[in-house]
Amino acid sequence: MKRLLVLAAAATALFAASAQTFPGSRPITLVVPFAAGGPTDRVARDLAEAMRKSMGGANFVVENVNGAGGTIGANKVAKAAPDGHTLLLHHIGMAAAPGLYRKLPYKPLEDFDYLGMINEVPMTIIGKPQLAANNYRDLENYIRNNSGKLNIAHAGLGSASHLCGLMWQAAINAKDAMTTIPFGGTAPAMNALMGGQVDMMCDQTTNTTGQIEAGRVKAYAVTTARPLSGNKLLKDYPSLQEMGLKSFNLTIWHGLYAPKGTPPAALAQINAALKLALKDPDFIKRQEGLGAVVVTDNRVEPAAHKAFVAAEIAKLKPVIEAAGKFAD
Ligand code: ASP
Repeated sequence: MKRLLVLAAAATALFAASAQTFPGSRPITLVVPFAAGGPTDRVARDLAEAMRKSMGGANFVVENVNGAGGTIGANKVAKAAPDGHTLLLHHIGMAAAPGLYRKLPYKPLEDFDYLGMINEVPMTIIGKPQLAANNYRDLENYIRNNSGKLNIAHAGLGSASHLCGLMWQAAINAKDAMTTIPFGGTAPAMNALMGGQVDMMCDQTTNTTGQIEAGRVKAYAVTTARPLSGNKLLKDYPSLQEMGLKSFNLTIWHGLYAPKGTPPAALAQINAALKLALKDPDFIKRQEGLGAVVVTDNRVEPAAHKAFVAAEIAKLKPVIEAAGKFAD
């Protein structure tokens, strides 16, 4: 009996110790700053599953905090308790927001502890199924001939699709040819496009691939410098550069962030789990099927990712200024 009591006491002490150790029994919330069912959400849900495995069964929960092109969700994480239990999974919007918003309620480089990069994803120029243009050349002519009558959807002011639309319209000298229609993420924008309520959109392959394949939207071009020769479905679509838009090159990336001040031990644990998750064959297979490329360890270093985001902010600001539009 005495032995049993000693064992029980030891087990309780062990449980108490492990409950104090990160992450203990509390879940880790991955905040996605866009609507459920969109590309960023897709990456987050796949990553949550891979990190559950790489963190010894830790409980990951995805929370969609959409609005204002990802800035509402990012702000929420910037102000969250820095205990490792609230993380932000964001895309290029982390670097585009300082150019698109003159008044941003958080500082992307100062208010977060950086954990690392996740993947890179090309974008596609797509249209509603009934759009009269059948290839990219037709599309540019169609836009010129219907100037003022067309609209282009995006996932919110400051989103990647907004950024892509701005850059593309500036590159084809059609800044005022289309009305932009903001949504709370790609998922609702895609529904409107498939339903024919909006004419066009530029968005990540993570969500457009399936719809293109099923014929629910028309595809015209990819935004990477070169065509996606390795992708079975998208290899035949031209790049915008090939179509004469010199130096057009837009690739979306995703990264993971914690509120500034998160304990270093928790950060180290999450970073190690992230690195392992990015080597998970199921995760890699899913991402590759959607046209995304999972990054290797050297880009999953917090300092390297922070330097990359700083360089992206510097690169995007003048591009956004040249496009001549702010989100606020
Ligand atoms: N793809 C969206 C964007 O344009 C965001 C999303 O819904 O994941 O930023």
